[in-house]
Formats: sequence, C-alpha cells, structure tokens
Amino acid sequence: MSTTNRLRVAIVGSGPSGFYAAEHLLKREPAVEIDLFDRLPTPFGLVRGGVAPDHQKIKSVTRVFEKIAANPAVRFFGNVTIGQDLSRADLLRCYHAVIYAYGAETDRALGIPGEHLAGSHAATDFVGWYNGHPDYRERAFDLSQESVAVIGMGNVAVDVVRILARTPEELGSTDITDYALDALRLSRVREIYMIGRRGPVQGAFTNPELKELGEMDGADIRVRADELVLDPASERLLAGHKAAEKNLTTLRHFAARAGTGKPRTIHVRFLLSPVELQGRRRVERLMLGRNRLVAGRNGDLKAEATGDRETLPVGLVFRSVGYFGSALPGVPFDPGRGIIPNDRGRVTGPAGQPEAGEYAVGWIKRGPSGVIGTNKPDAVETTDLLLEDARAGTLNAAPEPEPTAVERLLADRGIRVVSWADWLKIDELERRQGAAAGRPRLKLTRVEDMLAVLETSDV
Ligand code: NAP
Repeated sequence: MSTTNRLRVAIVGSGPSGFYAAEHLLKREPAVEIDLFDRLPTPFGLVRGGVAPDHQKIKSVTRVFEKIAANPAVRFFGNVTIGQDLSRADLLRCYHAVIYAYGAETDRALGIPGEHLAGSHAATDFVGWYNGHPDYRERAFDLSQESVAVIGMGNVAVDVVRILARTPEELGSTDITDYALDALRLSRVREIYMIGRRGPVQGAFTNPELKELGEMDGADIRVRADELVLDPASERLLAGHKAAEKNLTTLRHFAARAGTGKPRTIHVRFLLSPVELQGRRRVERLMLGRNRLVAGRNGDLKAEATGDRETLPVGLVFRSVGYFGSALPGVPFDPGRGIIPNDRGRVTGPAGQPEAGEYAVGWIKRGPSGVIGTNKPDAVETTDLLLEDARAGTLNAAPEPEPTAVERLLADRGIRVVSWADWLKIDELERRQGAAAGRPRLKLTRVEDMLAVLETSDV
C-alpha cells in the first residue's frame, strides 16, 4: 500500500464489469481509491454502445453505475487509451492493482469463401453503428437490399434482426442515432433470415428476446414446422431444460401462425451453416449447408454437414457468431480464446503463475457470454481475490502511488482527460436534445464533438 495507506486500484474499462468491480471494492475496503479508465469520453461500455436502442429498460442499470461513480473514492479518466496514452508499465508504477475490464471488442469471423465481399458485415459493426459508437459511425450498410441474412442464434443476432424489422415509428422514440434512423427509414429490406447451425433446442437466445420477434408492428414471423422436429438426443436434452422448452413452445406458436401481410418477414431457420458467400462484386447469394446433430465431446450436440445444400438470394449478410477479445500491449493474452489468461480473475503469466497485482473481470476474463447481471458475481469473485492478496501483501509494489502521479503523466502527454463532471455535461446535453425531440437522448457520436462541447461554457 502507499505512504498514505490507501489501496490504489486502476480499472481499465467502464462497462458493467468495471463498475461492478468498483462497487464491490468500495463495499469491502474503506481505504480503497479507484481510477476508472475508458478510451471513450463516455462511460458504460456496451450499455451505451451495445444494448439495443429499443431496450431502454435494460439501460436503466446506468443509474446504479452513476451512484458508484459519484463516490468520492472513484475518479473517471475518460478519453484515455490504455496501451497508447498510458502503458501497462505506467499503471503498475501508479497502482497496487490493475483490473482489466475492457470486454471483447472485435468479432469472430466465419472463415468461409466470400466473407470479405461487399455487403458482408460483422453484426457488431452494425450494432456499433446504430448505437452511435464513434468507431462505427462512418460504416455504411446497403439497406436497399431486399433480403438479408443474419448468421447466428444469439441475442445479438436477435437484436440485429429486430432493428432491421422495426418500423421507423417504433424506432423513433428510442435513442437510436439520427443517421441510422434516416437510413432505416429508407430501408427496402423485406425478407430477414436468422440462421442457426444447430436446432431449436440449441438456440442461444433468451425467451423474452425470441418472443419479441413475434410482436413486431411491421414484420410477420415464419418458422418451418419441419425444422422444429427434434432428433432423439435433442428430445432427451429438452427434458428438464426449462429455457429450451420455453423457446420450443414459442417457436411452435410461430410455426402455427399464418402470415398477416405485414411488409417484412422474419424467417427463423435451423440446422443450416453458411458455406460460401457468392456474388461478382458484392454479396448476391448465401450458400448454406444442411446439418444434422451428432454427439459432441462435452455431452452437447454439434452440427455435422449432411452434404445437402440450399442457396438463399441475399444482398446483405451479418455474421453474429460472437464477440472476441483483443490484447493490450504487454498484458498476457490467450489468442485462441480471446481472453486474458486468469485463475478466477487473477491474471496468469506464461507459466501459469499469477501476475502480482493484475486482475481481469467480465468478457476479457471469461469470454463474451452472459447478460449484464452475470458480470456482478464475476466481479465479486475477482475483487475478493484482489482483497485477499492485499491482506497477504502480494499486490504490486507501485513506486508512485500518489493520486497525482497519473494526472501528471497524462498532462505531460497532452491527453485531454474527460472527468466524470465532464461526462455529466455531455450526458445533460444529450438528454436535453433528446427531450426536445421526444426521445431519451440524442447521442453525440464523434469524440471531437464531445470534446468541443466541454470547451463551451453554456452546456
Ligand atoms: P452467443 O450468445 O454466444 O451466440 C452466438 C451464436 O453464434 C450461437 O447461436 C452460435 O451457435 C452461433 N455460431 C458460432 N459460431 C458459428 C459458426 N461458425 N457458424 C454458425 N453459427 C455460429 O453470442 P452473442 O449473440 O454475440 O451474445 C453475446 C452475449 O451477450 C450473450 O451472452 C448474449 O445473451 C448477451 N446479450 C444479451 C442481450 C439481452 O439480454 N437482450 C442482448 C445482446 C447480447 P452454436 O450455439 O451452435 O455455437
């Protein structure tokens, strides 16, 4: 601990896992001081940049995070990129412990021919675009296409399908960015295919999200009854698997529905893997291979190609097969899993030994799974170990633990740090502009615009 006897902790990333780690430290250690870093001027990670705009209720978790940030023992350092503005070595000079909470920022590829044709995108890019994440605001998606395929059966795939299927009126009361709303208003998308490589029992979506697909103002849902026929192993898995049972019931209801003539149709398809994206200059067709389910290694069922093929005429494809973590310079990284190697949250080095004073929480610890709340017990596990290490005296030595040391480093490097008070100004402006338009907020989507707002005194 420092000369002032405070436990100084840096948290890299201000999404749910970072905030839950801060919350638990504050609860358990009265002598803690926490600096929360984010490369964006805005906090909340995927709650701001990932959660769909038509799911505003989920975003209300930010009220919990705001209380945590208001604690005088917490400082926010927005607009600071770790690995660029501050190195891992800088953090280890200034803090007794560093918690990596920076999530999984990139996406998984399909690894099939044609994946790089125009019109083929990562779903995560589309999500970042409609949510106004500064990194994705310049992306363009050709919504003049009539048929779109979304590969994957997780909740991100469902989000993308839903946003494509929503009417402008449904989206008009959300905090979707104006440029996305304008583009979606002109959308000519009619047929939206959500494609799963396994069967209905193996869908990764949750039931409320699945049900919502059947409640769109402007889209019918179509499920093929023949694709809901279960193989004996899936039948056995279903017994006692409440979530899968619910999903199957919902899907059977959908399959029994007749179309109602809405302008769009959502097609949910099972047991099909993307084999190739075809087209001359851009995606024109998606070749799919039919699968059967066979026993996998861990008692689960995996997809195996039957050799049968089917081609869908689609002009736009979103792969939604999972996020993937990236490395921070100098920090141990497992490139196969896209996580920081760790033992229950203690970062481990090449020989499996714990790295003194380094910890991981959230998706960069366990991979991109679970809902926002999953990050709470995850952060508790890690921070309990951190506090155990603090008691054992095995944290990082931190030669410069004074709170001013990091401020000095950043000032010397000319970094415009965005404080919590600064963020509150941006927040206030976004809400005010939103209220004038009858929407929760109108997001600023360029870092320059956010910083410019802070230079004017009338916000
Ligand atoms: P996910 O839940 O892991 O789903 C990934 C999907 O991609 C699975 O259906 C998977 O199928 C499929 N897939 C993987 N590789 C594939 C391949 N090569 N070809 C075809 N399909 C492939 O991931 P996610 O949708 O990105 O979501 C990440 C996490 O965020 C999840 O825990 C999710 O619940 C959460 N989330 C929650 C909400 C919400 O609560 N509303 C919203 C968004 C995200 P297999 O099962 O066969 O591997």
